[in-house]
Amino acid sequence: MKVTQAEFVISAVSSKQYPEGSLPEFALAGRSNVGKSSFINKMINRKNLARTSSKPGKTQTLNYYLINKELYFVDLPGYGYAKVSKAEKAKWGRMMEEYLQTREQLKAVLHVIDLRHKPTNDDQGMFEYLKHYGIPVIVVATKADKIPRGKWQKHAKEIRAVLGMDKEDPMVLFSAETGQGKEEAWSAIWAKIHE
Ligand code: GDP
Repeated sequence: MKVTQAEFVISAVSSKQYPEGSLPEFALAGRSNVGKSSFINKMINRKNLARTSSKPGKTQTLNYYLINKELYFVDLPGYGYAKVSKAEKAKWGRMMEEYLQTREQLKAVLHVIDLRHKPTNDDQGMFEYLKHYGIPVIVVATKADKIPRGKWQKHAKEIRAVLGMDKEDPMVLFSAETGQGKEEAWSAIWAKIHE
């Protein structure tokens, strides 16, 4: 897909701030620092529209990016950052639930996982949650450039097994560094729009 236009729209903290209209939305979920912002930037050919942060866990907002005036990427606050208080975790949970359970425009969650490692307990919990509520998931296994190509399939298989993915659940091997998997990710997104 050719991205000709991409703009940041709003950092929302509650549903009242979600954009109006019925454009399809694709939300990015993943551990803090896993590479969600880098994924967005690579997908839209921009160096730094989505903020890549050196301070994981600090962005407790839903960041909306409008692409080609056709669809939104919604960067959800990351999880799994050790240094957050109980109160912050509770706030995170409320924000996620409000969005994931009520947003009709949500077509699928792009669940970003680190291809190098076994999914964490938090990764498993997130995936189970999405499955439990019947929310379509596209797993994006990123940072592929950090391991040799010959090991990709072994790691991909482990992610599928640990998360308990179904055969038909899409998984894209991705690298924000090399652009690997970009077209496949766009195809998976279009497939969800036209499903
Ligand atoms: P976020 O917190 O999930 O939004 O993560 P970021 O996009 O800010 O990325 C966290 C760190 O991982 C940054 O230093 C990125 O440069 C790096 N990173 C993200 N994706 C990749 C990737 O595909 N390959 C490599 N080598 N580094 C990546």
